[in-house]
Formats: sequence, structure tokens, C-alpha cells
Amino acid sequence: MIKPRTTFVLYIIVLVLVYLFLPWKGIFFIIITGLFLAHLVYCSANICSQAYIKTYCKSDTQEKKITITFDDGPDSEITPKVLEILDEFNAMATFFCIGNQIAKNKELLQQIDSKGHLIGNHSFSHEFWFDLYPANKMQKDIKNTNRLIFETIGKKTKLFRPPYGVTNPSLKKAIKDLNFNTIGWSIRSLDTVSKTEKTIKRIKKKLSPGDIILFHDNREQIIPILKEFLSYAKSEGFEIVPLDELFNIQAYE
Ligand SMILES: [Zn+2]
Repeated sequence: MIKPRTTFVLYIIVLVLVYLFLPWKGIFFIIITGLFLAHLVYCSANICSQAYIKTYCKSDTQEKKITITFDDGPDSEITPKVLEILDEFNAMATFFCIGNQIAKNKELLQQIDSKGHLIGNHSFSHEFWFDLYPANKMQKDIKNTNRLIFETIGKKTKLFRPPYGVTNPSLKKAIKDLNFNTIGWSIRSLDTVSKTEKTIKRIKKKLSPGDIILFHDNREQIIPILKEFLSYAKSEGFEIVPLDELFNIQAYE
């Protein structure tokens, strides 16, 4: 992946060359600028681009080991059902929790932790405009969730997943000193937008050793999806392992 800074240098060089040597400068200027902007958008929107922040997206293991993650909870209604299914299949997962959800569901967070699942930081507000926050505002928001997790389960999480999976220079600055392992995914289940059958089909088609699967534990449709997925993974001989084990990283300080 070409880093945005390198692309910017190339962009300037090409602009100068166009200006000096080519006719129809206006058209070339529009095309080159369009390509440059498209590259910037791709770098930010693709959590695995590694353009701004090192992220864990897929392990290079050859063994049939995968890990599952749930974003946007804990949810008082859905998360307990998810925990039940995970118990049934004896599977460990990582929950990337939103601070304002934790504040409303502290006992539930303790329950997730006591069952041995991992807990990660997924910002406090998960606001729509989070990606446009200045670095200091982002950092304050993220630190609030770390504090809340620590107050609730007595552990300092090192796992972080950016809201909406967007990374940019402000986020890079915001988490610079927070010593996180930033976690992406290799399979986005699209469980919030697709129908159950379509989601299952999509995951089955893609599943391979080392995958991180992204689910959400705040929507009812996760229940049939998760059951079907876990049955399928088991029947195909996939072992569901905790995230820290798959990447040999620390989940907590
Ligand atoms: Zn989210």
C-alpha cells in the first residue's frame, strides 16, 4: 500500500510535469486530483490499508484457526443471548464496546469478562462525526472508555477498534501514546444490513484460516446468524480461538 504522504509527493510531481509538458492541462489536473482524492478515501475507509495505523486484520496461520468479534455493545437485550450461544458452542470472542453502552450495562460487561471473553475499546460516543473530530477530542473520547472499562472490570484494555473502521491522521495522533493493539477484520459479516441467509452465504464463501470476523451484538438478526455460523465453522473443522492467542498479542496491560 502506497502511503498518503508518498502519494502526495507523486501527485505534486505529476502536476508539475503536466503543467510543463502536456496540452489540455485542465482535464489532466481534474483526473489526477480525482485519483489522489480517491486514494486518500480508500486509505481512510479501509481499516486494513495500514496507511495511517498498524492494524491486525488477518493472521498468517496455516492452521484452521479463526477469531470472532462483536462491535457496538454491550446491549441489554441482545448481548446476553449472544453470550448464551457462545457458551453453547464453547467459543471465546472479543467484544469491542462503546463507552456510553458500558455506562448503562456495567453488570453485563462484568459478565462478559467473567466468562473469559475479551473486551476492547470502540470509543465512547461512536458518533457519526467521530472521524472528523480533532485528535485531542478523539483521545478524550477513547480515554473515557478505557477508564470506564477499568472501573468496571479492573483491567486496562490494549485492544482498540476505530468506530466505523475509519483511520486517519487525527486518529493516529490521538492513539499515539495509548499503546493499543488496533484491530480490524478480514470478514465483514454485514450482519446489520443483509438478510440472514445472505450473510451466512457470504461468510461461508470467504472463511479461511486466520480470519477475524466482524459481527454486531446490538441487532436481533445476529442470533440466527451466529448459531448458523458457529455450526458451520465447527463442521468445517475451524477452531475459534481468542484474538490475543491468534496474533500472540496482549489484550490487557
Ligand atoms: Zn461500531
